[in-house]
Amino acid sequence: MWFVHFYNEVYKLAVVVKILVTGGAGFLGSHLCERLLVAGHEVLCVDNFFTGSKKNVAHLMHYFNFEVMRHDVTFPLYVEVNQIYNLACPASPIHYQYDPVQTTKTSVHGAINMLGLAKRLNARILQASTSEVYGDPEIHPQIENYWGRVNPIGMRSCYDEGKRCAETLFFDYWRQHKIEIKVMRIFNTYGPKMYPNDGRVVSNFIIQALRGEPLSIYGDGLQTRSFCYVDDLIDAMILMMSSQVDFTGPLNIGNPSEINMLELAELVIKLTSSKSKLVFKPLPQDDPRQRKPNIELAKAQLGGWEPKVCLLDGLRETIKYFQSQF
Ligand code: NAD
Ligand code: UDP
Ligand code: UDP
Repeated sequence: MWFVHFYNEVYKLAVVVKILVTGGAGFLGSHLCERLLVAGHEVLCVDNFFTGSKKNVAHLMHYFNFEVMRHDVTFPLYVEVNQIYNLACPASPIHYQYDPVQTTKTSVHGAINMLGLAKRLNARILQASTSEVYGDPEIHPQIENYWGRVNPIGMRSCYDEGKRCAETLFFDYWRQHKIEIKVMRIFNTYGPKMYPNDGRVVSNFIIQALRGEPLSIYGDGLQTRSFCYVDDLIDAMILMMSSQVDFTGPLNIGNPSEINMLELAELVIKLTSSKSKLVFKPLPQDDPRQRKPNIELAKAQLGGWEPKVCLLDGLRETIKYFQSQF
């Protein structure tokens, strides 16, 4: 077994960055853990498995430099790391509305604990914020200096206001305690490992089309979103973490190509060669009418980063993934 010993010794010398990913067993978190491990970093995945799953990270368990810890970020966490990606928070409306008080606690108490951890360790910390901070926007496309139009007392508020308060905390820790922060506003992201049952539009449509069931259009289907493929998002996240020390964000990350839900349904039906029809259902409360990121700042700050995967190719990959799950 001398080679195992040799590998471990070389590894200890080679890897200097220890990275904490909260929400690491979720959709985006599990992709991020994988990319960081492949790059040779030591990764600690912390998750309470509310929406995430051990299955998402099971294929990473053979990495010597990977560790999974069951923990709820609303409680303090004492570990030793150099960087923190704070992704812990349910992201789909069904899940974040299931226990709205816990959703706000996760965003707010979770941010305080992770910022406290970053402060003690002098570690750089990136917050997975969201385009939901813009609410139902009057400015289109959304630019980072737009303050948003958010209902503080509605069904989506636990998520939107929780994430807004987390941003406030990040900037106050930055001003008050000089923590190195990075705040990323993520627009709708999709790809393999989305959960089949979390009610998001891309997963719903693909599953319905594959089963030959009608695709559920909420409202008139003319509301728009701009969908980013997961690989493009993870590229940007890693680039942002290593961006200039004085660059804090907030930074929009997403794919600016905009589509309405009727067009998306047609595309999914075409790509799956499905015979599914459409069924119209009520529009959920406070559902934003339109959403599209302005990504000029991201291009400038992240060395020319822009999304590479078009919706057609990304949907093909996602459809393949869901086909493999049935
Ligand atoms: P997800 O639900 O798949 O992942 C969230 C993870 O956080 C899960 O593994 C869940 O178990 C974990 N978690 C939830 N509460 C926790 C707690 N209290 N303590 C520890 N772990 C907890 O969602 P996702 O799509 O991967 O989103 C990841 C992050 O990115 C979230 O913060 C979300 O708000 C943000 N985001 C995602 C999108 C998107 O389109 N996917 C868009 C905007 C923002
Ligand atoms: N904290 C943590 N891990 C650490 C340091 C702090 O989880 O390594 C949590 C702890 O719960 C604390 C919170 O982060 O209350 C905020 O820390 P900070 O130092 O900002 O404030 P404190 O509450 O300690 O005055
Ligand atoms: N939507 C839909 N059918 C579905 C699920 C969602 O028409 O089966 C709509 C939803 O009302 C919203 C858009 O698709 O206008 C995106 O919804 P999702 O939950 O994926 O993301 P978010 O609303 O958080 O952007």
